[in-house]
Amino acid sequence: MDVFSEVGRYGHEQVVFCRDEASGLRAIIAIHSTALGPALGGCRMWPYRDEEEALVDVLRLSQGMTYKCAAMGLDFGGGKSVIIGDPRRDKSEALLRAFGRFVQTLNGRYYTAEDVGMTSADLVHMRKESEYVLGLPGASGDPAPATAYGVYCGIRASLAEAFGDDDPKGRRVAIQGAGQVGRHLARRLVEAGAEVAIADIFPEKAERVAQETGARAVPADEIFEVECDVFAPCALGGVIDDDTVGRLTCRIVAGSANNQLKEPRHGDMLHERGILYAPDFVINGGGVINVSMELAPGGYDRERAFERIAGIGDQLRELFALARREGIPTYRAADRLAEERIGRVTRLHRIHAPR
Ligand code: NAD
Repeated sequence: MDVFSEVGRYGHEQVVFCRDEASGLRAIIAIHSTALGPALGGCRMWPYRDEEEALVDVLRLSQGMTYKCAAMGLDFGGGKSVIIGDPRRDKSEALLRAFGRFVQTLNGRYYTAEDVGMTSADLVHMRKESEYVLGLPGASGDPAPATAYGVYCGIRASLAEAFGDDDPKGRRVAIQGAGQVGRHLARRLVEAGAEVAIADIFPEKAERVAQETGARAVPADEIFEVECDVFAPCALGGVIDDDTVGRLTCRIVAGSANNQLKEPRHGDMLHERGILYAPDFVINGGGVINVSMELAPGGYDRERAFERIAGIGDQLRELFALARREGIPTYRAADRLAEERIGRVTRLHRIHAPR
């Protein structure tokens, strides 16, 4: 692999390879853009097949964070980090602290937080070595309830666009994934009077959420065919593909998973089928808003954070209106809004303002 051309393909500013022999740390920190502010994005630990797979993942994820922060109106850029290893076997205090020291060397160009394979207890170790760690217990904490709230607000905005009424009462929602976000989302929707079907590859997880919330558990391979108004992908990315796009019975796709479209053309296919797609990096921004509020003047305040997350509904309304006006798929409208904001702020950098 030609590392520089791969990095150039996504337009990254900086990629840092971190290695600490004693603790076994092998990590990559990718800073995609700091045009809007310091790069923000979680740290993922995953048993990647090889370094190439890890590099591609961190480049893709950090680019996504640039768009997400821009779309959320945050003064943060996009970054992400990955630690190569099995989180159940290879994690240790020394490894996490070694990673924290590398984050510190960037001197605030990159803020890290929790992602797949990491827990808030792991962040406590990193925090001993770096002040640039967000999402610790006692601060903004677990992002899933915030993400689920943003998705709930986004579903309401999508219902308004598709049906002219944002009330979830009586609407049928199929949630794929009964994990952290799926669980909180199911609860909110059932409380609002929606009929919720939920599936997980571990059927007992879907059953548990069904019992807790009043949703209905369905087998994982049937979730695409459940008759519904909204399909909410809350499991993995890439679920909207050549096969599934034709199987959906819904009017709306709106969920928390990152990179829901396998390829951009699947966004065009949804558009052609008349299915409204709530772009993933807009609707799932509740978690990043929540964690970013730790750096707000006065510090983290849950009520203020959730008020701001409710704005995701307005952002989607604006985006749907743009897509309608221009006759373009919603995923393109989302990219355009994010890129325009980055462009506007970047132009300001022409003006020299001594600090
Ligand atoms: P999680 O790991 O707690 O839950 C995911 C669930 O999906 C698991 O229970 C898993 O068994 C299930 N699953 C995996 N493949 C499946 C399949 N094919 N069919 C049905 N179920 C399947 O993760 P989470 O924190 O709930 O996040 C859900 C998604 O939202 C992820 O894609 C994540 O990247 C994204 N996301 C999460 C947050 C957050 O705050 N947690 C923020 C932004 C985006």
